[in-house]
Amino acid sequence: MLNENATANAAKKCKKKWRQKKIRHLLLILVLLPILRPSGLRAQAPCATDAVARRNAGRLPPPTFACRSALEEGRIGLDQTELASAVSPRTVATIQVVVHVVYKSAAENISDDQIYSQLAVLNADFRKSNSNTGAVPPLFLPLAADLELEFCLAAKDPQGNPATGITRQETPWNNIGQLIAPDGRPRIHYTELGGADAWDTEHYLNIWVASIGGGVLGYGTYPGAAPPAEDGVVIDPRYFGATGLAASYPPHHKGRTATHEIGHYFNLLHIWGPDENSCADDDGVADTPTQRAPYLGCPPYPQLSCGNSAMFMNFMDYTDDACMVLFTEGQKSRLWSTLNTVRAGLLDSVFCATTPVGEPVPAQTSIRMYPNPATTEIALESPLFDRECRICVWDMTGRLWKMEHCAALASVLHLDVSDLPAGCYRLFIVSGGHTGSGLLVKAL
Ligand SMILES: [Zn+2]
Repeated sequence: MLNENATANAAKKCKKKWRQKKIRHLLLILVLLPILRPSGLRAQAPCATDAVARRNAGRLPPPTFACRSALEEGRIGLDQTELASAVSPRTVATIQVVVHVVYKSAAENISDDQIYSQLAVLNADFRKSNSNTGAVPPLFLPLAADLELEFCLAAKDPQGNPATGITRQETPWNNIGQLIAPDGRPRIHYTELGGADAWDTEHYLNIWVASIGGGVLGYGTYPGAAPPAEDGVVIDPRYFGATGLAASYPPHHKGRTATHEIGHYFNLLHIWGPDENSCADDDGVADTPTQRAPYLGCPPYPQLSCGNSAMFMNFMDYTDDACMVLFTEGQKSRLWSTLNTVRAGLLDSVFCATTPVGEPVPAQTSIRMYPNPATTEIALESPLFDRECRICVWDMTGRLWKMEHCAALASVLHLDVSDLPAGCYRLFIVSGGHTGSGLLVKAL
């Protein structure tokens, strides 16, 4: 056990280390549309994130589902103040992105420039340097946050080969973004099903750009809410980026579908909460006003909802791209608590297309953990074990529970987890300049 000072120092040390395809097809589509469309919504729900999460709930094996459940439970009682101090970022983090363009028509095979324009939008919106920040209403000005998160196209593929961060795959399928194969898998995420395989979703943000149809602009996966091979974001090419094909599709022509869906990817909910017609639930973020339902279009300010001035200009509402303006400090805390825990693999080793190709590739290190879920003890195997290495265990709110020095050079270490409350944790092994991480589930 560690005393409080030792724990605080250990926390600082650990944080410092790891911040571094005809009729048949048409019929199939018609049958599948309700699956991806949130039930009870109008026919044209623009974001299918919640519908995808509901469909996946029955497909996920433990421990992934257990972790998702822990997140669902944890978000209700999060103390935002405590969370903010526990996981406040010290430096800007960069997330490496791979964009998989899956196209049937030539128009869907969007240009590199259109992809670059999307990266530029993300880097403006997540850094509060978007050109329309001046449109934040005075009431919300103190809440508008720089999320201190940037995005780049990956310069290395998962095997360490030089890459552009862009893959292109022709498909025989129309609207592949909503097609489910007979075996239950979404076609878009699998090359053998006409889509494109993900790159190591632990270490890359995967974005699939493919026609979806049915009025859906895009969807993302909440942490733990999809099988790893399907983890990421899917955006229709008409609404991806701010140039090229997207320029012809206002009012969703300013790249903010991706801003919104990546928000979901980092566990941000719709600003009105899970229920689309209720003041009794919210988004689990303290500083976003309770709101009954989504806003569409570009309504005049102010709008009253649930007795509050509605923050309909938030990136997590459904307003037009030109009218979305901000994320809040509370959303920043929630996003960073996610990035520091269940999405921490994104921080392990990042190679951007803007850095020189040819630098040595740090080991993309995996940790084998068993049994998982664990009850009293978990066995760890990792090539990172050496005399200097440390093992850190964090919960979903960013609280450090364990910090152990690797006591032996054995290839298998046994970590006592009997004192951990049941739940979902992130385990890190820090050794030299290298970090490995994995999800640890403690069962009762
Ligand atoms: Zn959404």
